[in-house]
Amino acid sequence: MRVAICGGGVAALEALLALHERLPMHIDLIAPNRKFVYQPMAVAEPFGLARTQLFEIGDIAQELGAELHVGSLERVDSANRCVVLAGGTSLPYDAAIVAVGARRNTWLAGAMSFGGADDAGAFAELLVRMEGGVVSQLAFAAPPGVSWTLPLYELALLTASRVAERGVAGVQLTILTPETNPLASFGTTASAMLRSQLSDRGIRLRANATVEKLVGTRLELSTGEAMDVEEVVALPRLEGPGIQGLPADAEGFIPIDDRCQVLGLEDVYAAGDATAFPVKQGGIATQQADVAAESIAARLGALSQPSVFEPMLRGMLLTGVAPVYLRAGVDATAAHGDVAPNPLWMPPTKIAGLYLGPYLARGPYLARGSAVVDRPSLEDRPASRDPEALQAAHREARELALDFAEADARSGDFRSALSWLEVIEQFDGALPAGYLAKRDAWQTHAGD
Ligand SMILES: Cc1cc2nc3c(=O)[nH]c(=O)nc-3n(C[C@H](O)[C@H](O)[C@H](O)COP(=O)(O)OP(=O)(O)OC[C@H]3O[C@@H](n4cnc5c(N)ncnc54)[C@H](O)[C@@H]3O)c2cc1C
Repeated sequence: MRVAICGGGVAALEALLALHERLPMHIDLIAPNRKFVYQPMAVAEPFGLARTQLFEIGDIAQELGAELHVGSLERVDSANRCVVLAGGTSLPYDAAIVAVGARRNTWLAGAMSFGGADDAGAFAELLVRMEGGVVSQLAFAAPPGVSWTLPLYELALLTASRVAERGVAGVQLTILTPETNPLASFGTTASAMLRSQLSDRGIRLRANATVEKLVGTRLELSTGEAMDVEEVVALPRLEGPGIQGLPADAEGFIPIDDRCQVLGLEDVYAAGDATAFPVKQGGIATQQADVAAESIAARLGALSQPSVFEPMLRGMLLTGVAPVYLRAGVDATAAHGDVAPNPLWMPPTKIAGLYLGPYLARGPYLARGSAVVDRPSLEDRPASRDPEALQAAHREARELALDFAEADARSGDFRSALSWLEVIEQFDGALPAGYLAKRDAWQTHAGD
């Protein structure tokens, strides 16, 4: 049995973990990138609250017994059951999973595009300009059609916290989004929570607003209205990957059925941002990869009842104070979802994947030397019934953990100090202000 997994991102690695768990087989992993970039924390990087984590794909492939081919999928030749890479190499498959992600395009000329870790440096420079009083009117714009706006809200909330912390006066932040309500896909409770967070921080919100163009400092909307801004930060617009031999919708995304099989192609599956499913989100990408892996296992007779794709959105929103956890079924009528200060799944990773979350959460200090995660251990938890008491307890626990970390560092036990920081980072999603630099220093002292 040969399975070709094309991609080196979230969906591909989840598929690799899920297949490794189920069946002895030869897996070819085809990825152009040698490092897997964990994008969600890129929003915290400009603020010095976290550093984007990079993982060596070669190490992961080796640990999970896959053969890594550094290259790009160019074509799926379903008639001859092989994938063809740029350069002409052809690899036969019994089943293939296409997880090549989406293309990220800039769409608003004149705006700063924030598409992940590569843009963290430019955003950090913008913060310096704001603190120096050079920029005081900043707009955050979601592109038409984007379904995953959470990073935009995080950037705005973290910017507001930074500006308040540093006492920078006169800054006006505005979010413009085509969504009917902020984070509408998480339901009305989440939207109400976010509206109140934004208004508490003085961030203006324009929902139902499609930005058309930026002319100098004039931001024009599709309704004909305009507003004056000094800088605009925009999320990129996503476009399908355009792989030859695969069907595509009008925007180039790959249509799949509820088993994540590519429409009309036997034994070819697709998962993640590359698919035509409207929500492009890491947790959803992992769920599709799991369904594809189960479908393959079922084709081989190793599983009698493979799951169908029943999307569940899980999001951790960084707010600059404690994070907020969100969970909702994805359907147009979802009126309510869970919104809580306590983790709604464990481990509480930003990308909540059945295998990938626990696998990547084996931090160097928490689970030193632990083996490959053998079985899925992402676990849903209920929302707290007393969120205020929980927030107070959380604050107390964070302060206690910081006290322990400082005490350990003072006594020279830097490994233990780092473990405390790791605990805080796992539960808060990011470190408190100033602790990234301390962690670097402690790591040096610990000899890591
Ligand atoms: C700033 C930011 C914050 C985010 N926050 C969150 C969050 O909090 N929670 C969440 O769930 N999601 C979040 N996301 C979204 C999440 O990162 C994506 O939805 C997820 O990475 C999609 O997974 P994927 O595997 O489909 O694509 P990707 O992870 O983009 O991986 C695609 C892979 O395919 C490779 N590739 C490309 N072309 C080819 C080819 N021709 N052949 C072979 N390989 C190819 C690429 O090099 C890459 O390795 C965030 C994204 C960003 C940018």
